[in-house]
Amino acid sequence: MPHSQDIEGENDPESASEYECLQCGTIVQATTHPGACECGGDFHNRAKSLE
Ligand SMILES: [Zn+2]
Repeated sequence: MPHSQDIEGENDPESASEYECLQCGTIVQATTHPGACECGGDFHNRAKSLE
């Protein structure tokens, strides 16, 4: 097999996503869902649409 080229990782499992609190607007970066915000609100992944 030829050496594979470096592909800029779209599927990098280590890359963080941005999560935004629906109540206070706090934004955190995390690789996994951060759970509940300090204010008690829920975070949603900004990379995904709300449905
Ligand atoms: Zn909050």
